[in-house]
Amino acid sequence: MSTDPAAELPFFYGSISRSEAEQHLKLAGMADGLFLLRQCLRSLGGYVLSLVWNLEFYHYPIEKQLSDTYCIAGSIPHCGPAELCEFYSKDPDGLACALKKPCLRSSDTPIRPSVFDSLKENMLREYVKQTWNLEGEAMEQAIISQAPQLEKLIATTAHEKMSWYHGKIPRRESERLLYCGAQPDGKFLIRDREEPGTFALSVMYGRSIYHYQILQDKLGKYSMPEGSKFDTIWQLVEYLKIKPDGMVTILADACVNRAAGMIPSLPATRRTGPNSYTPPPRVVTVKEVTPVPADDALPMDCIGFNPYHNPNDIKKFNIQRNQLFIDEVELGSGNFGCVKKGVLAADKRQLDVAIKVLKSDNEKLMKEEMMREAEIMHQLNNPFIVRMLGLCNAESLMLVMEMAASGPLNKFLSSNKDTVLVEEIVNLMHQVSMGMKYLEEKNFVHRDLAARNVLLVNRKFAKISDFGLSKALGAENEYYKQGSNHDPSVPKPKSL
Ligand code: ADP
Ligand code: MG
Repeated sequence: MSTDPAAELPFFYGSISRSEAEQHLKLAGMADGLFLLRQCLRSLGGYVLSLVWNLEFYHYPIEKQLSDTYCIAGSIPHCGPAELCEFYSKDPDGLACALKKPCLRSSDTPIRPSVFDSLKENMLREYVKQTWNLEGEAMEQAIISQAPQLEKLIATTAHEKMSWYHGKIPRRESERLLYCGAQPDGKFLIRDREEPGTFALSVMYGRSIYHYQILQDKLGKYSMPEGSKFDTIWQLVEYLKIKPDGMVTILADACVNRAAGMIPSLPATRRTGPNSYTPPPRVVTVKEVTPVPADDALPMDCIGFNPYHNPNDIKKFNIQRNQLFIDEVELGSGNFGCVKKGVLAADKRQLDVAIKVLKSDNEKLMKEEMMREAEIMHQLNNPFIVRMLGLCNAESLMLVMEMAASGPLNKFLSSNKDTVLVEEIVNLMHQVSMGMKYLEEKNFVHRDLAARNVLLVNRKFAKISDFGLSKALGAENEYYKQGSNHDPSVPKPKSL
């Protein structure tokens, strides 16, 4: 199970507030350079570094970036919270001072978990079980390989598990519920608004009820009007328990959803907001569907799912020619040359691979294009995207990828028209959307997604491939504009 990367640090306090952090620092003596680390209450996976200098407190948010690195705004990225602290202990690099003395947790102060920390393990389990219909060992394996990707997905719907969440109830009903029983200031609930994917907060104060619309920006972050921004609804709620952020009062007691047991736990179909996710229905009955036996139903069960336990073990940018056996069998071809079958010898293992071989090495432009494709693929790590294992520069430039032995989806569909089940197609589409969601989060546009560029590991497991036309978008607000005639590299739409 994934644990917090800071869990081992003796100066990490978990989900404590700013004022609690200041309290700990005060008790530890307020020396210059005294510091501690805590979980960021706003952004998923982020931290805050709290530091003392000259008897004052400084709090620096550390963001977890899409590349899984950690960074204080405006400074350089680090591969983990420990490395980041190590760096700032040697060089203040813009902080009030360098980190000198860790404010250690005492034995009676355990790391405080966030509301989500205590829920996430069960939610992950439930999600994997329901969405992929897995149990036992197959489920444990799926959880291990999927946890990093799924954790964020689950965090964005975790509010549905909270006692204060009432789903889609009318405003008037929210008032009735809040007036039931005791009426303390700060009694609150969250409900869905009419417009799908939007939420409202209803809170009691002085025996009156105030309704606030929760805003969501383009990046999917939630906030109160003018307030701070949060990755998820539950982080916003937790924060509003500490700070009013423009409201009449801070939040106190939850107006408990007594019907909570009746809300389908996960996943429900009503979510449609940009951060939300609706998995495919398990069974689509268009024609009579033969139930697929549970033990061969899903990708995790297939040989080849997540073929290496830790992809970074094997992912090497430079592959030596003597590690590579190239078969004469051609898997496909294109402008650049052809894709051949092969075997990569890596760390005492032999992996089946697909090798994109550049046709003519002296074509400088082609070489550059392949390097660009490799560079993009190198940054991607998702079960639903073909992984690049490395580049080999020998008799020609070769891009080595994991093998998707069942070939392109378009061919599979046309040659299996009569036997393919709607349910299978829905499952494959689900996987492609998970891959695309991942790309979107990493700010990549594929620009050539088509059935011919979705490859199958087997008939239940799809991966997006062909990053020859992909682009990484630079700034957060730089959007790819379709049909822009300033971009000659945009291809004309090709049919399947
Ligand atoms: P192009 O840029 O010419 O479209 P692709 O990356 O789509 O090149 O590869 C061309 C063909 O090679 C694919 O349609 C597929 O048949 C085969 N191929 C490519 N990558 C793989 C792979 N990882 N596993 C198996 N076959 C592959
Ligand atoms: Mg292609």
